Amino acid sequence: MNAPNAENLLQVWEARHNAHPIRRALALLEVAAPDVGIEAWSAMPIGQRDARLLDLYETLFGSRLESVTHCPRCAETLETSFATGDIRLPLDETKLSKTFKFRKQGCSIEYRLPSSEDLLQVIATNDDPEDAQLQLLRRCVIEAKRAGKRQSPEQLPADVVDRLADEMARNDPAADVQIQLNCPVCGHVWNVAFDIVWHFWSALEDWAQRTLADVHLLARAYGWNEHVILGLSPTRRQHYIEMVRA
Ligand SMILES: [Zn+2]
Repeated sequence: MNAPNAENLLQVWEARHNAHPIRRALALLEVAAPDVGIEAWSAMPIGQRDARLLDLYETLFGSRLESVTHCPRCAETLETSFATGDIRLPLDETKLSKTFKFRKQGCSIEYRLPSSEDLLQVIATNDDPEDAQLQLLRRCVIEAKRAGKRQSPEQLPADVVDRLADEMARNDPAADVQIQLNCPVCGHVWNVAFDIVWHFWSALEDWAQRTLADVHLLARAYGWNEHVILGLSPTRRQHYIEMVRA
């Protein structure tokens, strides 16, 4: 995946400043690979989308990820650092745009994996988590049959629905990456979900602030406009900044 140039990246940061994380994720991928198209990015299963975001993060910001959290047992503040390689799962290309079959208790269900578009639609029309799960199933279940008769997702036994949700998660493992944390004070060990979109946006915020400060410094010193300054390579920009500060 190619790194977007500084000007395009700043545009995404500005335009998606108040946007939902899903829309931020899609905008970042679209600017990095516009040839794929926003519709294809929106239709991609969440884990596959996130795997690509992780690659893009690495291209732009390097392989280190930092996390600050609190121990749920003793409330100690924990600063953890890990590498993109620690959480990257092998990407199964054969599961792209694929439908799956699931059989349980006489039910036969054909489904696809939830995508960003599915989640956006569910979020837009639902506040109740139970309704949201049902609505997501209505979108992702292509056909459900019980004893040969067609069923709507709400007609399926609750146990089958639960197993189906587990099966969907297993088929898109990168959608739920867990990191194990270990408290050095009380020894408590627990898992937290790793959220690539949150990490990405947080790194982008830092980068945007630094970049705007660079533009400010160089524009004032040399009278160059923002477009010209952003067009400089990072190395060349850094040299000018050092000369201004000398
Ligand atoms: Zn602790």
